[in-house]
Amino acid sequence: MLSSLLPSEGPLVKIRDLRLNFNTFDGVSKVLAGVNLTVEKGDVLGLVGETGCGKTMTALSIPRLIPCPPGEIVGGEILFEGEDVLAKSEDEMRELRASRIAMIFQDPTTNLNPVFTIEEQMIDAILCRMGEQSALGLTPFSRWQGSVREKRTEARHKAVEMLKRVGISQVEDRIGSYPHEFSGGMRQRVLIAMAMAGQPHLLIADEPTTALDVSIQAQILRLVKELVDEFHLSVLLITHNLGVVAKICNKVAVMYAGRVVETGTIREIFKAPKHPYTVGLLNAIPTRASRRGELQGIPGSIPNLLSPPAGCRFHPRCAHAMPQCAADPAPGMIPLTRTHQVVCHLFD
Ligand code: SF4
Repeated sequence: MLSSLLPSEGPLVKIRDLRLNFNTFDGVSKVLAGVNLTVEKGDVLGLVGETGCGKTMTALSIPRLIPCPPGEIVGGEILFEGEDVLAKSEDEMRELRASRIAMIFQDPTTNLNPVFTIEEQMIDAILCRMGEQSALGLTPFSRWQGSVREKRTEARHKAVEMLKRVGISQVEDRIGSYPHEFSGGMRQRVLIAMAMAGQPHLLIADEPTTALDVSIQAQILRLVKELVDEFHLSVLLITHNLGVVAKICNKVAVMYAGRVVETGTIREIFKAPKHPYTVGLLNAIPTRASRRGELQGIPGSIPNLLSPPAGCRFHPRCAHAMPQCAADPAPGMIPLTRTHQVVCHLFD
């Protein structure tokens, strides 16, 4: 009994050789082809790569939110705090999502319900995290009775507290507003407050600042960083913006065409990238010293996952490709330091 109350040893998330297919009318799309990823407790891990490389699918597979069908996990393992996520029942997953994993998404507008007030949505989210049935909008405040009234009052207190914590001013005046009465930045703050209300162990943030103005982006990133320190939170941050990663992450995982090809600390990846794809990504970032025509793109385009290249999926675009790069099996993960790993035959 006591052991179940103690925090589990080992990484918070460990994904091993995860394989995910999507069955489409055109064939089977091999979206994830052996993803290996570890999130340690306290990590703020940036998951980067081009659009369509499998970042979001990797993240959604942790709380098991992949739509199946058409998705199908065909191999691998996902451990969350040592527990096998793929072996859990739907009820167990619902409990896990409500209590230990929270998500925020790119577009705060579409993630709030336009017909309910912020108050109703916050209370509903908090009640769900308290293990109560969702009752959004079914019972007006004035008709709450007995223990229901107490629980909803407690949830409302918590909602006010969390909204203040994420920087919403004059909360008592604004909590009864509808989402359209808030700006994009405020809506994202509300979603962060909802996500944090259950004091999750892992926050998955999928491009949380992409839809916001540049000035608001910095505020939201600062807020996430403060919450990481305050709540000892671990974060999996999905982004294609390496500048955002450099600002708030301590580790990076680079994905290419359904595989993680390099992982390391910020310093290791930004100062000494090893995988040719990571080097290409970094060379494509404009700096203050860049002159017109100096930036180098990566030649070619990402492969069609309905018929991906054999071996290393990057080999058709790689300037260092060797004969073995085009042959199966694909290269495995090679440790370079305790924290830096690369998937490339150059380091075999
Ligand atoms: Fe290039 Fe070969 Fe390394 Fe792939 S395995 S990145 S093709 S050198």
